[in-house]
Amino acid sequence: MPTTSDQTNHNLVVVGSVAVDWVITPSAERRDSVGGAAVFFAMAAAPLAKVQLVGVIGHDFPQASINDLERAGVDLAGLERSDGLTFRWKGRYHENMNQRDTLETHLNVFEDFAPKLPQRYRESDFLFLANIQPSLQLAVLEQMDRRPRLVGLDTMNLWIDIAHDKLLEVLARVDVLAINQEEALQLTAESNLVRAAAKIRELGPKTLVIKRGEYGALCFGPDGSLFCAPALPLDDVVDPTGAGDSFAGGFMGHLASTGDLSSDNIRRAVIWGSTMASCCVQGFSYDRLRELSREQVDARFQRFVDLTRF
Ligand code: AMP
Repeated sequence: MPTTSDQTNHNLVVVGSVAVDWVITPSAERRDSVGGAAVFFAMAAAPLAKVQLVGVIGHDFPQASINDLERAGVDLAGLERSDGLTFRWKGRYHENMNQRDTLETHLNVFEDFAPKLPQRYRESDFLFLANIQPSLQLAVLEQMDRRPRLVGLDTMNLWIDIAHDKLLEVLARVDVLAINQEEALQLTAESNLVRAAAKIRELGPKTLVIKRGEYGALCFGPDGSLFCAPALPLDDVVDPTGAGDSFAGGFMGHLASTGDLSSDNIRRAVIWGSTMASCCVQGFSYDRLRELSREQVDARFQRFVDLTRF
C-alpha cells in the first residue's frame, strides 16, 4: 500500500445493500426501517468524505431516504431504480443487544442487479465493497478505470457459506478487510483470532480490522502491528443495526479525506470508525447519523481520545 500523504478529498465509492429492514430489539420494534450496508456506510462517511453510492432500490424504497442521502451530500448517480421490491432483511436482537438472529433475507432487486458505474465513479481513488454478493463486489471492482489506491471489503456469514470461492477471488484483490470476529473465525475455520488474522492476511488483505461489537475493534496493520480500540460504553443503545457498516464508513471516510495510508493514520481511522459506529447505535436506522453536525462528530471523536489517555 502506498503511504503518501496529501490533503485532497478523494472520492469514495461504495457498493453494498440498500435495504428496508424490520428490526426487533428487546424493548422496541421498527418495520420499514431503512438500512443496508451501503446506506449506513454512506451516512457515516458523508461528514468526512465525498461518497459515491452504487446499489439498487425497488419501487417501495422511501423517497424521504433518497432526500436524506442527497442532503448528506452522497452522490446517487450509481443508485439504480428497479421495478421490483427493495432488498429486505428482518432481524431480532437478544437481550444483551450483542447478538442477533436473522429471521428473513430477501434479495429481491439485488438478484438480477448488474451495476453500471457512472464514469466519474470509475476514476475514484477509494473503493469500499460493503456487504452484498461477492459477484457484485467483483463487478464493481472490475469497472474501475485503474486500481484504486485503497480497496476495502466487508462480508458476512451468508456469503462465506454460499459464495465462498467468489469471496476468495475478491479477497485476493483488496487491501483492507473489515469483518466481525465470528466471521473471521468462520472464514478461516480457526478458533484463535490471531491465527485467523494471519491466515486472512495470506489470502490478500494486508490490513485487517476485526469488529468486536461492544468490545471495540482490533486492527492488524499493514506493517504487522496490532492496534486495539475500545467501543464507547453507552447507556442508550437503541438499535445496533448498521454499527459495522458505520464503522467502515468512518474508517474509509477518514482515509479518503486525508489521503494518508500510513500505519498511524490507519489507527486514527479505526477511531473514526468507532466514533461513527457509537453514534449509529443510539437510534433506529440512520436516525442519529442524519442529525449529526461536524462539531458533534468531532466531540464524539474526542471522547474516544479521552477514553484511552493515561
Ligand atoms: P450490520 O449491523 O453493520 O451488520 O449491518 C446491518 C445491515 O446489513 C442491515 O441494514 C441489513 O439490511 C444488511 N444485511 C443483512 N443481511 C445482508 C446480506 N445478506 N447482504 C447484504 N446486506 C445485508
